[in-house]
Amino acid sequence: MSRQQLAIHGGPKTKTTPFGTGKRFGEEELNELRETLEQNTLFYHFGKKTKQFLADFNDMFNVKHSVATSSGTASIHVALGAAGVSAGDEVITSPITDQGTVVGILYQNAIPVFADLKPYSFNLDPRSIEKKITAKTKAILVVHLAGNPCDMDPIMEMAEKHSLKVIEDCAQSYLTRYKGKLVGTIGDYGCFSTNDFKHISTGDGGVVTINSGVEADYQRAHAFADKNYRRFDDQVSKDIHYLAPNYRMTELQSAVGIAQLRKLQSICERRHQHGQMLGEGLKEIKGVFPMEVSEEDWCTYWFYMFRLDMNVLGCTNVEFSEALAAEGIPNAAGYIPKVLYEQPMFQNKQAYLHTTYPFNLSDVDYSQGSCPVAEEILTSAIRVNVNEFFTKADMEETIAAINKVANHFANIKVTEKIE
Ligand SMILES: *Cc1c(COP(=O)(O)O)cnc(C)c1O
Repeated sequence: MSRQQLAIHGGPKTKTTPFGTGKRFGEEELNELRETLEQNTLFYHFGKKTKQFLADFNDMFNVKHSVATSSGTASIHVALGAAGVSAGDEVITSPITDQGTVVGILYQNAIPVFADLKPYSFNLDPRSIEKKITAKTKAILVVHLAGNPCDMDPIMEMAEKHSLKVIEDCAQSYLTRYKGKLVGTIGDYGCFSTNDFKHISTGDGGVVTINSGVEADYQRAHAFADKNYRRFDDQVSKDIHYLAPNYRMTELQSAVGIAQLRKLQSICERRHQHGQMLGEGLKEIKGVFPMEVSEEDWCTYWFYMFRLDMNVLGCTNVEFSEALAAEGIPNAAGYIPKVLYEQPMFQNKQAYLHTTYPFNLSDVDYSQGSCPVAEEILTSAIRVNVNEFFTKADMEETIAAINKVANHFANIKVTEKIE
């Protein structure tokens, strides 16, 4: 049996030791939680923990204002509401993202418009965004996918030119830097998630940064996360002028968040190292395209995704994924099952039962082929995990396994060509 025989065909497995693991929560979180319960209130406006969590967050990101919320999805909705996105407005965003990116758009009765992506960074292509701008466009909702920043300079220029708001979805991109600048501080709003799968967790939760530095902008966002109650220091106003949901963070989540924030820098550094290592390793392998990360940027790898060169490999990404899994490397073919606009909600243009509103306000095109690069990414990509607890050996073995599987499928392609 050849040493290079795939494990899926009965050959030796590349990775035989378990990936590094560790505890995400410890005494630090417990101490914060104990103090919180001793406050005898878990309400953000009465307790100290949410205020502390946000003060720490603001320090770390060097922003003046932020608001705590109940989820990343909520953070994005708060930003949209505060930005004044409303019925019939169009918001340009990415078709490869968590569904939470678009939920708030539709709850504001605005219309998601999908722009195409760059083939190897999987982030919005500014040229495609420009083509999607219409008289109805109100905002660009950029997604910094997998810890890798979008190309913000042309996007900010375009937004200025067309008077559009820019909202950054940073749920997967803590401490990511675009040309030295932290993402989430470049556009008008930066939206973060602390759900249990992100770099840091409070169970569920989120943060919105308000980057204008203007007090009124901050207050509008703050109120939008709290039923439009206006609770500032000793002043509380419960006059209801506009509709807003209750997306408040509790003191328990903030307590855990305080302790988690202290670990964030080192979590991001380790993820950066691991992701960079994969990138370097994959550069040497024939038949795969590494994830494109600019030298000027700092990526904090929520996951690592690469693409297969179908001209070199005689396999689908599903076949590659299965072979790689058998080598002992957990992975997935693609990311989300299909681009967002191929989901029934968009194909049927129906978000709510019994009405096609707000889709009927727009003639937006959700047909297959409307973002061809994004569609191609999902059928040719392989996603592997990155985690702060992994070791250098874990990464080396991951690279070795990818190399082995790629070589195998490259040989099949060569044989097919000869036949
Ligand atoms: C996780 C995620 C969200 C939603 O965050 P929740 O806290 O789960 O609501 C939004 N956008 C992206 C890109 C995400 O990864």
